[in-house]
Amino acid sequence: VSEPVRTCVGCGARVPQRGLLRFVAVAGGLALDAGRRAPGRGAYLHPEPACWQAFVRRRGAVRSLRATPGPEQRTRLVAALAAAGEAVAR
Ligand SMILES: [Zn+2]
Repeated sequence: VSEPVRTCVGCGARVPQRGLLRFVAVAGGLALDAGRRAPGRGAYLHPEPACWQAFVRRRGAVRSLRATPGPEQRTRLVAALAAAGEAVAR
């Protein structure tokens, strides 16, 4: 059985979707899609602060969103991820 594979927009690795956090573009920003059921285009990140920070540092379009989130939008998403306790405990 093949699993859906998605690209982490932080580190660029292609991995099974279930190992990633989904987020979607919403009006004016980015929103964590904890249930993975929000409509529209989603993008994915590892549950790893290092990947979130890489995403914040990146510039340019997020291809899977067909959007170019600004730095504030990226920072807000990462803050929401941290607040939701999505980081992998180490
Ligand atoms: Zn990653």
